[in-house]
Amino acid sequence: MPLKFDLHVHTCYSGDSSITLEDLIVQIKAKGLNGVAVTDHDTVKGAVKAVKAIEAINGGNKSGRLMVIPGVEVSTKQGHILGINVKTPIKPGLGVGETVERIHDAGGIAIAAHPQAFFKKGVGLNKKIISYGLDAIEVINSLALPFGFSRDKCRNFARECNLPQTAGSDSHIPEAIGLAYTVISGCDESIDGIVESIRRGLTEPLGKGIPMSLRLRHFLRIF
Ligand SMILES: [Zn+2]
Ligand SMILES: [Zn+2]
Repeated sequence: MPLKFDLHVHTCYSGDSSITLEDLIVQIKAKGLNGVAVTDHDTVKGAVKAVKAIEAINGGNKSGRLMVIPGVEVSTKQGHILGINVKTPIKPGLGVGETVERIHDAGGIAIAAHPQAFFKKGVGLNKKIISYGLDAIEVINSLALPFGFSRDKCRNFARECNLPQTAGSDSHIPEAIGLAYTVISGCDESIDGIVESIRRGLTEPLGKGIPMSLRLRHFLRIF
């Protein structure tokens, strides 16, 4: 069965998010997700704690488990890059190429976060970014503005470049978790399997932009 993951969620360890580890667990269940990737800004602290918390809840259950994939959203010189399946800190402020390399060395995959959206620090959608060795493009980001324009641009670019496509809510408040999610197929419920499926492009990005009322609360939280 395909799995549903929100691949871009910030916890309170991000500094600009109100989402606690308890909120994460409640929302994964409430939104019918298999799990989320915790991708805090330039820290893996929250991600590592969330993985431990979820393991404790799952106990010995092998299936039907809630999952947290550890990750990070790295601030590079050119824009934000998601490192998925990363548990070790990745230095911010480097170039995209070097950041991607470090994410790979840490055992993760590198995804261009909101590459084309106003008020967001993305790496842009020029062909140059292909040479950085990115593994996927975040095609749907619920905070991207204008939402439809950004999604279509990113989708066309990913198709043209034959790059896997992902989606994530970029939540900083609990209610926004799961607004966008990636359907991942061809894998079991293991983080390695999920990451491999993303790498192979066995993904479908789905979801919507954040409603105006939540955007306002989001905005007040971030600034
Ligand atoms: Zn970002
Ligand atoms: Zn983010």
